[in-house]
Amino acid sequence: MTYSLVTGGAGFLGSHLCDHLISKGHFVICVDNLITGSPDNIAHLIGHDRFKFIRHDVTEFLYVTEDLDYIFHFASPASPIDYLKFPIQTLKVGSLGTHKALGLAKNKQCRFLLASTSECYGDPLVHPQTEDYWGNVNPIGPRGVYDEAKRFAEAITMAYHRHHGVATRIVRIFNTYGPRMRLHDGRALPAFIFQAMTDQEVTVFGDGSQTRSFCYIDDLIRGIYALMMSDENEPVNIGNQAEISILDFAKEVIRLTDSKSKIVFEALPVDDPKIRQPDISKAKRVLNWEPEVELVDGINRSIPYFKKKVQQEIAD
Ligand code: NAD
Ligand code: UDP
Repeated sequence: MTYSLVTGGAGFLGSHLCDHLISKGHFVICVDNLITGSPDNIAHLIGHDRFKFIRHDVTEFLYVTEDLDYIFHFASPASPIDYLKFPIQTLKVGSLGTHKALGLAKNKQCRFLLASTSECYGDPLVHPQTEDYWGNVNPIGPRGVYDEAKRFAEAITMAYHRHHGVATRIVRIFNTYGPRMRLHDGRALPAFIFQAMTDQEVTVFGDGSQTRSFCYIDDLIRGIYALMMSDENEPVNIGNQAEISILDFAKEVIRLTDSKSKIVFEALPVDDPKIRQPDISKAKRVLNWEPEVELVDGINRSIPYFKKKVQQEIAD
């Protein structure tokens, strides 16, 4: 039996990863303190004979008795409103939590994959962003708690690789979307879909000219699994290259939900990156991976989930 441990496994990405690992025949141990995740995301896995949930804060000593093959370290608040609400927890999970997860990987002599982020590039001065770009991060701004925690996490991951010989992988994840995002996590897609489905004004921050490149969840998970199974120790970008302005993204959501909502412009959050697009040449070359789901298709695939969430909220 192959044993995988997923920290943050009750979150958006982590729960999809748990599903993928179960489908590959792994025994999956999900460790999560539910600070931003939800038991709903893994409810369908509870009772499965190859799934175990441990409620635990990974910044505290972490140990399991199973002989692990893989650790996927996904625990961390990830949406800007979450890490602004939990700044200290975000810094702690990126630093202390990554240290504990790496310690467990060293002890078990298993592979370790860090979920890092495009935020390591900050407000980038290189476009599209390649893995050899060192970034433009404001360490003391409000987003610094997340960006610097992830940059520290990358540094300690490479140190465990170089100094202790742990087989580590680092994925720099670009904006990802799909079912199981929280309706009110503040990220662009859930915010716009909720507003559009309830005919409220759609809030575009700034003038909406800032860009993002949105990757559908299934593509991302496939790329992360391929990276774990590869021999690549240095960071790899995984994301969709199709870049869109946030204003056009809002218009697309309004169109695809047949909404009558109007767009309103609100203040741009501090240090909000102006542009973001992954260069995925390395992922194509090393992993033979590239995204397959186009934005319109991905939004359409996400709509039924969000519709159900909105209906539940209205009924409550
Ligand atoms: P999420 O908030 O849905 O999931 C994070 C999970 O980690 C939650 O279930 C939360 O309860 C758990 N967690 C947080 N601190 C913990 C702790 N101390 N101990 C145990 N569990 C803890 O966020 P997500 O979007 O699924 O992001 C998952 C990971 O991927 C994060 O590390 C994030 O930085 C990274 N990432 C995500 C994106 C994206 O677009 N979603 C982009 C870049 C990077
Ligand atoms: N955004 C917006 N309106 C919202 C939520 C987000 O205009 O209601 C913008 C946000 O300012 C950013 C982009 O959408 O420029 C993506 O935001 P998200 O929080 O999804 O991700 P991140 O900023 O981490 O890339």
